[in-house]
Amino acid sequence: MNKLETLQPQHLLEWVKLAQQKASFGKTPDYIPLLHQTDPQLFSASILTLNHQTYSLGNSELTFPLMSVIKPFLLFYVLSHLGTETVFKRVGNQPSDYPFNALEQLIADGGFPRNPMINSGAITLASLLPGKDGIECGESLRLWLNQWGNCQLFLDRLMLESVQSLPNPRNQALLQELSAKGSLKNPQLALNTYNYICCLAGNTIDLARLGLLLINPPSPLQKDHCQIVQNLMITCGLYESSREFAQRVGLPTKSGVSGAVLSIVPEQGAIACYSPPLDQRGNSLAGLFLVEEIAKAIFCSLG
Ligand code: GLU
Repeated sequence: MNKLETLQPQHLLEWVKLAQQKASFGKTPDYIPLLHQTDPQLFSASILTLNHQTYSLGNSELTFPLMSVIKPFLLFYVLSHLGTETVFKRVGNQPSDYPFNALEQLIADGGFPRNPMINSGAITLASLLPGKDGIECGESLRLWLNQWGNCQLFLDRLMLESVQSLPNPRNQALLQELSAKGSLKNPQLALNTYNYICCLAGNTIDLARLGLLLINPPSPLQKDHCQIVQNLMITCGLYESSREFAQRVGLPTKSGVSGAVLSIVPEQGAIACYSPPLDQRGNSLAGLFLVEEIAKAIFCSLG
């Protein structure tokens, strides 16, 4: 029995209400002006099961930039095109206890990005996308995901302009360190591509569809690549909260600073949530709360 399908609508509505109360304690990030100005009350969640059941909560037409939730899919793309060996020569697979954009971690590791879910790793993998500029490289990923994920990601142009409107000293510092170690042939192209793909946007249905792609990849995409991606989501997907959330909830989950969250329920389905207010580590408060309540319901009370 697919336990995601036994979720009761009245429970979901109750959790959404509580999730929105949690959200009132969070903040939108201040280093990207347009994200900072986002209405904190916005909310959307979609749950899709492998048996084609859909639950939608809030406004499922709302679109938002994926930000770091694109990272697992960048990893999936490069694994599918270049294979495991090439990818893990460029990035590691170990969790980090530092924030997603910390230079300290990269320096401590001698310039080798610790994992693909933090900025140093994702910038390095973005440099492997095919194309002559950030647009072409970013489009390679967007079109591939829309084709295989049956979704409609688009570029949020205003968000990209906003990302580029302020200097981002942390990402610049990562870029310098990666370049100094010879990890990037064309550092500016890698950063442009990274910023572009962080601004790919969609709604929670699109995001949940991408989640299903990681559970049930159509041939010729490989299930063992999806497993690698899911393992890294468990151990590294929620910044410094990853370890704690993995122990408590155990679902492969990735968050982004826009307030997007994607969780995989292995063999069952995907949960996508969007609520902009973040906790101190950069995770959507409402998103993590909702995922945790669903996990408790499907693994404990009904188990
Ligand atoms: N573009 C954002 C940055 O590099 C993404 C970070 C995130 O979502 O965690 O700061």
